[in-house]
Amino acid sequence: MTADLHCHTTASDGTAAPAQLVRQAKDFGLKALGITDHDTVSGVQEALDEGKRLGIEIVPGLELNTDFEGVELHVLGYYPDLEAPALHEALARMRDARLSRLRAMLEKLAGLGIDIRVERVLQIAGEGSVGRPHVAQALQELGYAKDIRDAFDRYLGPGRPAYVSRYKLTPEQGIELVASVRGIAVLAHPGSAGRDELIPRLVQTGLRGIEVYHTNHDKEMERKYAGIAEEMGLIMTGGSDYHGPGRKEGIRLGDRTVSLTVVQELKELKEKMR
Ligand SMILES: [Zn+2]
Ligand SMILES: [Zn+2]
Repeated sequence: MTADLHCHTTASDGTAAPAQLVRQAKDFGLKALGITDHDTVSGVQEALDEGKRLGIEIVPGLELNTDFEGVELHVLGYYPDLEAPALHEALARMRDARLSRLRAMLEKLAGLGIDIRVERVLQIAGEGSVGRPHVAQALQELGYAKDIRDAFDRYLGPGRPAYVSRYKLTPEQGIELVASVRGIAVLAHPGSAGRDELIPRLVQTGLRGIEVYHTNHDKEMERKYAGIAEEMGLIMTGGSDYHGPGRKEGIRLGDRTVSLTVVQELKELKEKMR
């Protein structure tokens, strides 16, 4: 078990830079590492370069947050054509949507007498895709919240006064996007959403795998999703969903791994798409 295929970097909401994460993975003894930032592939090249230097295989990918009737479903896309214009156009649209959402959240906060400048939040996000955790950090800095969780509970979570819903793709659109740039679409941690009845439909759209092993899944879920994957002829992937120190407490790099044969299977599928 040597491949952790689900990790985030500073390119989205992780706390480790791509190269830094690759070094951690190397130190941890992993043979392969998946880079799956939210709605971006901007961290992939740096990881590939560092992986080459250190002799650890990098599996390029991304994670799309999609919405099905108010339920979040995450779609992983492995080995997308990184240069494909269709990929960058779609990701740019999502980036614009993130910015409009940020402005709307800050307006609501201003209405509550809390002044946070867009520039400050963008500065906090750095290279990453800007989102609620960054606004939360700004709230914490200004003393409006004890920590990130508190900021969500008070202001940013659903139903709270500065909540703004987000533009999202449907799961089908996410899968189609991945397929259109010859990537392999995998349903991420399906246990979190618990909408298993959608899986056959998603397979029809082009879903090729299920993330069976994930830090949100217990043994029973692992067995269930392994069964579904087997039945439907899907690749069984897995990973920790590590976001780096200080994010998602309790999850460590390499907490969930799969064997290198899974990487091989993904690569073989990619080859067939050529
Ligand atoms: Zn996810
Ligand atoms: Zn993730």
